[in-house]
Amino acid sequence: MKEIKSKRIAVRIKKGDLVKVLLGKDRGKRARVLVVFPRQGRVMVEGVNMVKKHIKPKRSGSKGQRVSVAAPMTISNVQLVCPSCKKPTRVGISRDNGGRQRLCKKCQAPIK
Ligand SMILES: [Zn+2]
Repeated sequence: MKEIKSKRIAVRIKKGDLVKVLLGKDRGKRARVLVVFPRQGRVMVEGVNMVKKHIKPKRSGSKGQRVSVAAPMTISNVQLVCPSCKKPTRVGISRDNGGRQRLCKKCQAPIK
């Protein structure tokens, strides 16, 4: 086993990836990743983990509003869906051809 120098976990999910939600009220949903926060280990997924935010009226006379916004969730709560075999999978990293490429652990297909 190699020693892990940094405590940061490797983020193997990118913006635009299709992921499956494993936990929470949106469990089972498949959606696109909107934003990745590698330092926080969180992702924001389209239409998942929506929370209602209350906006206070700015001026008297105008109404306050409730809007739904996606809240970031822990990366370990989502799993990447492989574009080749369409299954939720773990992601491996290969270092072939000098570059770093993600691989589907199930079908070994490269993931962009
Ligand atoms: Zn696959």
